[in-house]
Amino acid sequence: MQKILLTGGAGYIGSHTAIYLLEHGYDVVIVDNLSNASRKAVDAIKNITRKSFKFYRADVRYKTALYKVFRENKIDAVVHFAGLKAVGESVDKPLMYYDNNLKSTVALLNVMKAYNVTRVVFSSSATIYADPDSRLYNEKTTKVARATNAYGTTKVMQEYILEDTVNGAEFSDAGGLKVMSLRYFNPIGAHESGDIGENPNGIPNNLAPYITQVLVGRREYLSVFGDDYDTPDGTCIRDYIHITDLAIGHTLALKYLFSLTGAHFDAINLGSGKGSSVFEVIKSFEKAAGAEVPYKITGRRAGDLPETVADVQKAKNILGFVTTHTLDDGTLDSLNWQQKHPNGFEELD
Ligand code: NAD
Ligand code: UDP
Repeated sequence: MQKILLTGGAGYIGSHTAIYLLEHGYDVVIVDNLSNASRKAVDAIKNITRKSFKFYRADVRYKTALYKVFRENKIDAVVHFAGLKAVGESVDKPLMYYDNNLKSTVALLNVMKAYNVTRVVFSSSATIYADPDSRLYNEKTTKVARATNAYGTTKVMQEYILEDTVNGAEFSDAGGLKVMSLRYFNPIGAHESGDIGENPNGIPNNLAPYITQVLVGRREYLSVFGDDYDTPDGTCIRDYIHITDLAIGHTLALKYLFSLTGAHFDAINLGSGKGSSVFEVIKSFEKAAGAEVPYKITGRRAGDLPETVADVQKAKNILGFVTTHTLDDGTLDSLNWQQKHPNGFEELD
């Protein structure tokens, strides 16, 4: 049984990927410092899958902690989710973001090298595309540029760190480093059980958790950030991808890496290929809830682009990846999790 180390595996995307991997014949080990996750997410993974796995509360930046994990477990591949991800916070605290996100990737690669572990899937983001002329984002033709915020810049820099290490000689003796950088578009949804889901700290930055908190009465109304964009209904268009589809994408990426022998770097979009506006997302949630989502139109949010949609051809060609869940599945599952657990993991105390 292949053993996959998930850094940041207690977080939103990591925990759902852990469930999928455990239910599909993989063993997992999770390392998370719980800076943005709850220990209860780890318990929920165990309860849902009825499978046991090792969890280490540790910071990926610190090699001593990582050495222990690699010494105690024969790791076959890594999925590196660990990272800070709040765009606004990263603008205020860039050093914190560079320190956490860059140091963790460098430390992880060093320890992988020491243990001859050569396969890693990396959590990248659509935010690395900074091309105002593009609306359909293609891995080859859309420009990757210095992002508008420190969070995005850490993702650009981490892709460079990974690519340079693939092209360097440090992993040569081990057979070459193999990297799949997955550029996620907008994750939505939750596990079908409703017992694990997105659990943001404080006021949600993202659209879906904000709306679900409005729908369970935790927030009064949604602020729609602008209805004067050059889009059919004036609101921004994003590509929402169900969290289970994302988990499947990681599993396919791992399989692909296991099929490789030499050094390899690739970056692939994970999205649905379909754009939905803020108003369409609101309507989908209203259908799921059978209730209206109160909202007010406010000003545009700095840095928002009118439309970001994934070109999904490469994911299909290389990984055989196609999404099977719709936006309606995503809003229904997000709402189900929030209704079952209005206060997220806090109320499981
Ligand atoms: P999340 O915050 O729920 O999960 C990240 C996890 O990493 C958290 O559990 C946190 O405690 C842990 N972590 C952070 N720094 C760590 C460190 N130094 N050592 C150990 N653990 C650490 O976020 P998520 O939405 O699950 O995102 C997972 C990854 O995907 C992140 O790298 C994020 O940047 C990336 N991503 C997320 C989105 C999104 O919209 N959710 C989009 C694109 C990319
Ligand atoms: N959005 C909004 N109100 C909110 C949060 C988000 O109108 O409270 C909009 C935002 O302007 C964007 C879309 O919803 O057009 C998705 O935003 P999110 O932050 O979830 O993702 P990202 O901006 O990273 O694509």
